[in-house]
Amino acid sequence: MSESALPAQLAAELADIAAAGLTRRRRVLDSPADRIARVDGKAMLNFASNDYLGLAGNADIARALADGALQWGAGSGASHLVSGHLTPHERLETEIAAFTGFERALTFSTGYLANLAVTPTLAGRGAAVFADKLNHASLIDAMQLAKANGADVQRYPHNDVAALERLLAASTAARKLIVTDAVFSMDGDLAPLPLMFALAERYDAWLVIDDAHGFGVLGPHGAGSLAHFNLPASPRILLMGTLGKAAGVGGAFVAGSATAIEYLLQKGRSYIFTTAAPPAIACALSKSLHIMRSGDALRANLMARIAQLRDGLAGKPLLPSATAIQPYIVGDNEAAVALSKALWERSLWVPAIRPPTVPKGTARLRISVSAAHTAADIDQLLSALKELA
Ligand SMILES: *Cc1c(COP(=O)(O)O)cnc(C)c1O
Repeated sequence: MSESALPAQLAAELADIAAAGLTRRRRVLDSPADRIARVDGKAMLNFASNDYLGLAGNADIARALADGALQWGAGSGASHLVSGHLTPHERLETEIAAFTGFERALTFSTGYLANLAVTPTLAGRGAAVFADKLNHASLIDAMQLAKANGADVQRYPHNDVAALERLLAASTAARKLIVTDAVFSMDGDLAPLPLMFALAERYDAWLVIDDAHGFGVLGPHGAGSLAHFNLPASPRILLMGTLGKAAGVGGAFVAGSATAIEYLLQKGRSYIFTTAAPPAIACALSKSLHIMRSGDALRANLMARIAQLRDGLAGKPLLPSATAIQPYIVGDNEAAVALSKALWERSLWVPAIRPPTVPKGTARLRISVSAAHTAADIDQLLSALKELA
């Protein structure tokens, strides 16, 4: 085969994607990723981001980032275990541990890497992983790596605690891990964490929780889904949270017992074999954590906007979600895309989510509500949806 045939093979696959109407395009923002984002010269009201507290464009956090870069330089220079672990990283770990109530925390450049550090590191040969069918792609990839390491992996129907219990009861694995999103990223619903924690206790399993969409949003001080359910910082729990969503910056953490965190530090390949995030990111995150912890007014506004949206769409096909993720089910792929496009033409940015990201026949608008939204913003979206539906 000639060398030039290689790109042609890819081009054929890309043509298939295009023919199925599934080509994805990036929009270029010509402004910060704020409540109003400028795209192609047009001011768009942004219901598309995970910036739930409106902190992505926060000037104090940006200043902490800039000051951090001036004090600590642009880069960390190496991975954490070699020479890239600076004072701002160390301080951030301590702050996250205190905030979440766990003994210790480890930070990562992204949530994807954080998830890859947990399940495959804890679960290899002789272990069993029990995962929700609707878990985030990064948890699924982590599960596949565990499988490649020899773990037995099983998926249970979404939030089906009875099915999970049957699998746990039938398992003879020496080590068991239950792995779940706390807030499901495309449905916005919560995992029944108290019941799952009880199962983890009964069957002596680890409980691995991905709180990407709960951290900063739910619970007292925004400490997340565990705090929301008043669950303890048990040594059998590993809590992952992302720092690029409500925290508005980027990165992630895993919090847990001192021993579990030390284990991940020694053995987690996606922790060890990657350059530490720039120290200025940690400076920005320390500032962001401070704002989040004292951000009850932001969360109150967020909850008021969510309630306003749900009231306004009563009787419409909105999934039952109490979080910032409000899925409006359309069903048909093309119809979802057409509705998103019609909203776009009204300067409302609401993404359409299609299979395979969501199950077939459940294409939807994924409306992300933010503390930065005003009551008038929500009204604007409500009247556009009424007019178009
Ligand atoms: C966004 C997300 C991640 C990945 O986090 P990044 O920091 O964006 O890599 C992991 N899990 C869930 C549930 C997410 O929504």
